[in-house]
Amino acid sequence: MIARMNRREFIALAGAGAVSLGISGCAAPNRTGAENKPANKPNFVVIFCDDLGYGDLGVYGHPTIRTPNIDAMAAQGQKWTNFYAAASVCTPSRAGLLTGRLPIRSGMCSSSRRVLFPDSAGGLPETEVTIAQALKPRGYATGCIGKWHLGHLPQYLPTRRGFDSYFGIPYSNDMKPTPLMQDEKTIEEPADQTTLTKRYTENAIAFIEKNKKKPFFLYFAHTFPHVPLFASKDFKGKSIRGIYGDAVEELDWSVGQILETLRRRNLAENTLVLFTSDNGPWLTQHLNGGSAGLLREGKGCTFDGGMREPFIAWWPGRIEPGQTIRDMGSTLDFLPTILSLAGAQLPTQNVLDGLDISPALLGTGPSPRKVMFFYRGAKLYAVRKGWYKAHYITKPAYGPGNEKEHDPPALYHLGRDPSEQYNVADKHSDIIADIRKEVALHLANLTPGKDQLAQRIPKKK
Ligand code: MG
Repeated sequence: MIARMNRREFIALAGAGAVSLGISGCAAPNRTGAENKPANKPNFVVIFCDDLGYGDLGVYGHPTIRTPNIDAMAAQGQKWTNFYAAASVCTPSRAGLLTGRLPIRSGMCSSSRRVLFPDSAGGLPETEVTIAQALKPRGYATGCIGKWHLGHLPQYLPTRRGFDSYFGIPYSNDMKPTPLMQDEKTIEEPADQTTLTKRYTENAIAFIEKNKKKPFFLYFAHTFPHVPLFASKDFKGKSIRGIYGDAVEELDWSVGQILETLRRRNLAENTLVLFTSDNGPWLTQHLNGGSAGLLREGKGCTFDGGMREPFIAWWPGRIEPGQTIRDMGSTLDFLPTILSLAGAQLPTQNVLDGLDISPALLGTGPSPRKVMFFYRGAKLYAVRKGWYKAHYITKPAYGPGNEKEHDPPALYHLGRDPSEQYNVADKHSDIIADIRKEVALHLANLTPGKDQLAQRIPKKK
């Protein structure tokens, strides 16, 4: 029925639904003043894949990987086509999502090491405020499930960064010894990775069941399809795409389980679910790496294949179904958007890079994001403003190959040329001048954080 309504009818119904659910009335002050926001405390579930490419889902055009649950989630909600992770590799990308800040500000990116390793001494600095920490004063239950990768030493674990509970692996699944942790204790080492997706999902369902009467925030960061790839016996060997497809199809099953649990507990209309990935496909893994579809390059690179991600937003009764959003957005925007919808205060001690995209989610206005900065380590490589993206520096994602500086920057129109193939810099000096101004403004207001990724645990003698 909703699918046949026009936009105005839908918004009217969504508003009426909000009243009948008791989510109107004693509203917390709304920081943005946007209309049609629920006045109570909605639940939030962030489902975050690892190394899933722009082209790896049925709804984003993959010809053989079956993702019926994610495809249905998009059909019932919004699918975005210009949405970016905060960085092209794991650690900085996750720091950006949870803090709403470019990783250069927190020191969670480095030109010496690209991510945290088991011998790393650093982690997300205590001066950073995570979404979970910011929601706590509003009475939210907070759970972290899956891969963390923001510091494995005790002071950096999720339970010290605003999460009530944690179940997962503290860094990537290709790093030894891959412990599985419950809160701050290792419960299995090495983790049996064949059952990780299944166990994460069981834990996520248990978290939702346990907290169904409270507002909750679940950060569910899957281990897959990061290499090495595993799938449980129900999925192994089932996909035409091979083990990569098996792993993604199991993630799709997991998404279906989460949405089904929310529906069964009558929580769907009060829960915003956001699905995306931390960075693009790991192309150097060949058959075991995913696909960025028509985008150029993949994980580790500042061409769009490294950072443009599938992004699906689902909230029955609040998000109009079946929309494709072409506005720009980023995981950097999760923190201000979630805090705005929760009526929570934005952290004031830190400069934020994220913007409140709830108007675009709720159909009351466009996304405020017009500019995106693409860092590799601690260096700014590229900038997108509107449809134009300027590359100041390029470098192959991995392996040998030097940085190449471009002056003037290489310029691509991502609307006409989403694959970044045709440099139009010589025709658009005005656009380049405008982007240069944007860069100057950004750099003038930038204080890089202390490099957390270069620090190592001293070796025992
Ligand atoms: Mg990753």
